[in-house]
Amino acid sequence: MNPEQLLSSIQAVIGLLLDHPWILLSIAVVTLVALGLASPVGGATEIRDPRRTFTAAERREAFERAGLRCEHKPLLWHRCTNTPTQGDHIYPWSRGGRTAMSNQQALCPFHNSRKSGSVPTRMYILRLQLRRRRYFPGDVSPRVEWRFSAAG
Ligand SMILES: [Zn+2]
Repeated sequence: MNPEQLLSSIQAVIGLLLDHPWILLSIAVVTLVALGLASPVGGATEIRDPRRTFTAAERREAFERAGLRCEHKPLLWHRCTNTPTQGDHIYPWSRGGRTAMSNQQALCPFHNSRKSGSVPTRMYILRLQLRRRRYFPGDVSPRVEWRFSAAG
């Protein structure tokens, strides 16, 4: 493509956008939604749950409600098939996440070590809650909740 062709292509795109401003608006909306989903969830606090770790019984409960399977799922791949051995704070304890069943997920050692103390994104929480509907027992809420103000 020579410089003249490139220039006329750019002019054509600008002309299209000027004729149809809703295209720009749509791109802006999609970008804002994507940025929102990719941002870390809020709620970091100086308050620390006095209890640092889950009990053995709580971990066992988390493993069982996950079908004895690691809960990690990459964006474009199937859910991890490893057996979970670790109860992970979805919202890190070090950032103020509660030591509660609603803030616990069952992970294999590999995925727990990869996640470490990172704060999850909104997308991460939404995806986890959505796929939990498929494997959690019917009487267990798939909702992730880590704040002290809420019950659960
Ligand atoms: Zn895993």
